[in-house]
Amino acid sequence: MSLRFDGQVAIVTGAGAGLGRCHALGLAERGAAVVVNDLGVTTDGQASGSDAAHAVVEEIRAMGGRAMANGADVTDFDAVQAMVDAAIAEFGQVDILVNNAGILLDKSFAKMEMPAFKKVVDVHLFGTANCCKAVWGHMAERGYGRIVVTTSCSGLYGNFGQSNYGAAKAGVVGLMNTLAIEGAKKDIRVNTLAPTAATRMTESLLTPETLALLQPETITPGLLALVAEDAPTKMILGAGGGCFAEIRITETQGVALLDEDLTPEGVIAAMDRIRDPEGAEVMDNAFSQTRKYARGGAAARGLPLPWNDI
Ligand code: NAD
Repeated sequence: MSLRFDGQVAIVTGAGAGLGRCHALGLAERGAAVVVNDLGVTTDGQASGSDAAHAVVEEIRAMGGRAMANGADVTDFDAVQAMVDAAIAEFGQVDILVNNAGILLDKSFAKMEMPAFKKVVDVHLFGTANCCKAVWGHMAERGYGRIVVTTSCSGLYGNFGQSNYGAAKAGVVGLMNTLAIEGAKKDIRVNTLAPTAATRMTESLLTPETLALLQPETITPGLLALVAEDAPTKMILGAGGGCFAEIRITETQGVALLDEDLTPEGVIAAMDRIRDPEGAEVMDNAFSQTRKYARGGAAARGLPLPWNDI
């Protein structure tokens, strides 16, 4: 095992079951001390009295690793900050944060009650933001941090009945985009995992054959690569069944419209060129797009190119 985390400390949220448990075991197996966080709730977020976090801690200790259990609800910032403080008191630092905790409250948007929408956004998006915020100052001070947020194909591509979950899961990608930029100077690298796995979350949706292929163990190697010392940053890694792919948000070259073409009719007429994927590119940051349009607009008008300062 050449990739090791000896001397490092990781927090994994929702690590009492499914993917989080597997990530926690994978980190511990390679030497990290792990804070196994889990609120112990059912898939729809109801209290279940589960002591799953302690069970995973016992598994880690049984293989000679170091771990502590934590029952913080990721939606409660004070509880999350207390978890981070306890991790630092026990293990000395936090190097890695894996935001994995999650619930589902699926319904078509027509039937969705707004409290169910809010609850799912609270757990996935605010839960992730709370945990990132609670470690951020500490990681910045130490000049080192590796953070992963967990998205879903439902957030990236859409899925019937998951408007709340999809919105939250797209939200964490937005959070990653900015945290990766803001963390760069302090060597805080922030990536996104987009898993598809056989867990209690998906067991009723897939056939036994598919579930057998998509075991969480086939995804954790990708997670470990995203929190390694030489991890990339701002990457969305799709993972499932041992398959890995990079997911990118790209922008087409597009068109610059002038005069009578700068009308809704002109946009409709240009739609094929606007959507032409040839030469599509990934934007580095928000101003990349502003610069592109300012330059494109200037070039179309025969004006000098502005925005050289950005
Ligand atoms: P899971 O239900 O097996 O595990 C989720 C864990 O999170 C549970 O142990 C639960 O107790 C815990 N949890 C829930 N709310 C919490 C809270 N407020 N605070 C702390 N812990 C809390 O589900 P899983 O399939 O392992 O999912 C893990 C993550 O991966 C989730 O974010 C999920 O949305 C995401 N994901 C899963 C799949 C998949 O195919 N299973 C696909 C895409 C994304």
